[in-house]
Amino acid sequence: MGLMLAILPMKTIKKISVHGGHSKEFCLHAKDLLEDIIKKYIKEGFTWVGISEHCPPINDNLRYQDEKDADISADQLKNQFKNYILKINKLKKKYALKIKIFSAFETEAYDGYIDYINKLIQTYKPDYIVGSVHHINNICFDYSKPLYEEAIRSAGGINSLYKKYFDKQYELITHLRPAVVGHFDVIRIFDTEYKKRIEENEIWEKIVRNLKACKENDLILDFNTRALMKKAIEPYISKSILKKAKELNIKVVPGDDSHGTMDIGTDIKTGIKILSQAGFNTDWPEPKIYTYT
Ligand SMILES: [Zn+2]
Ligand SMILES: [Zn+2]
Repeated sequence: MGLMLAILPMKTIKKISVHGGHSKEFCLHAKDLLEDIIKKYIKEGFTWVGISEHCPPINDNLRYQDEKDADISADQLKNQFKNYILKINKLKKKYALKIKIFSAFETEAYDGYIDYINKLIQTYKPDYIVGSVHHINNICFDYSKPLYEEAIRSAGGINSLYKKYFDKQYELITHLRPAVVGHFDVIRIFDTEYKKRIEENEIWEKIVRNLKACKENDLILDFNTRALMKKAIEPYISKSILKKAKELNIKVVPGDDSHGTMDIGTDIKTGIKILSQAGFNTDWPEPKIYTYT
């Protein structure tokens, strides 16, 4: 019997994703049906997933480029989002015995976003939100290299773009307190010099301030492996910031930011490995979910 006890299986780390599940049905730059995405998570053995589709644009001007190109209005996209919420709530029940699904959505941080996001939360009652910044001065900097460059010009230089990004993120963290903060340092997306830049004093101070705000509000950081798919050498969060997050005892959990079934189940393993080697709690904490009366 003693021997039997000694060969109990080693505890395996659960596969989860705190941010992802964008689908062609509800996002123009994603692929596949939402239900097929959920089935892929089940097939890959995920324990739980937070499905966090993009929120609809606040107005026509702030649509993503692909939405403008396809000539779909903000009103149509708002309607589509309503259908997304209906669908995810349905799928959540349908697959409840196979996988735990959280219904969520991903934010924006352009002009007017605080009231707008709060209204969406009240209307659609998601389990949680992923707080993401994709815009500086209303320019969607992570969409393409030309738009990134436009954002740099608008901010008055790349260092200034970083500072504006982390100030905007601080505003989002403190005003919306999202359960999950999405791709913390995505501002580095098209910057080959990012490792040096994030360690520059004025930028680093803002990063640490934001991390402390995450800690104070008990928020989870999304360890976003979509960066790997886009050929980056490491996920968002970069190593130096991740180290600081560990020092501050902040919760960091994997998110694949999947935009189709092909994104599910591969890069997440790299994310899990990095977090486990860095000493994070791999008994992944779940996001705090809203309660509605
Ligand atoms: Zn997307
Ligand atoms: Zn995002």
